[in-house]
Amino acid sequence: MLLNLAVLFGTLVAMEGVGTLAHKYIMHGWGWWLHRSHHEPQLGMLETNDLYLLALGLVATGLVALGKLGYAPLQWVGGGVAGYGVLYVIAHDGLFHRHWPRTPRPVNRYLKRLHRAHCLHHAIKGRQGSVSFGFFYAPSLKTLKRQLQARRRA
Ligand SMILES: [Zn+2]
Ligand SMILES: [Zn+2]
Repeated sequence: MLLNLAVLFGTLVAMEGVGTLAHKYIMHGWGWWLHRSHHEPQLGMLETNDLYLLALGLVATGLVALGKLGYAPLQWVGGGVAGYGVLYVIAHDGLFHRHWPRTPRPVNRYLKRLHRAHCLHHAIKGRQGSVSFGFFYAPSLKTLKRQLQARRRA
């Protein structure tokens, strides 16, 4: 049981790394055509960017299914992937973008920092030159602002 929880938790942490890299190199790279909707003014509740969430859900489901077939730890990896997706929806869609009818507010310093960092991510409209690609880790605002200025100058 303890090992399973460790796998679950480890997956959650690892997913932030995977998420950051995917956001930087896939979503702002060849996958920009799907992510682009998210960097434009909101048109409705759903955007093509949500397909990434769907893909995450499919990966999680696949892993859990493999786990049930006998590759035991994989269902906990799948659980971690699914858990990351849920946390992402709460933090990113709910807290950062307030896509919901009732809007939760960032209550502590950590969440405020994440929120501001994500606002800076959206400060650049196009594909290139954005900063702060993570969702649960963000460099200090000072660092991000410096990066942003340097990129604007470039
Ligand atoms: Zn982005
Ligand atoms: Zn966003």
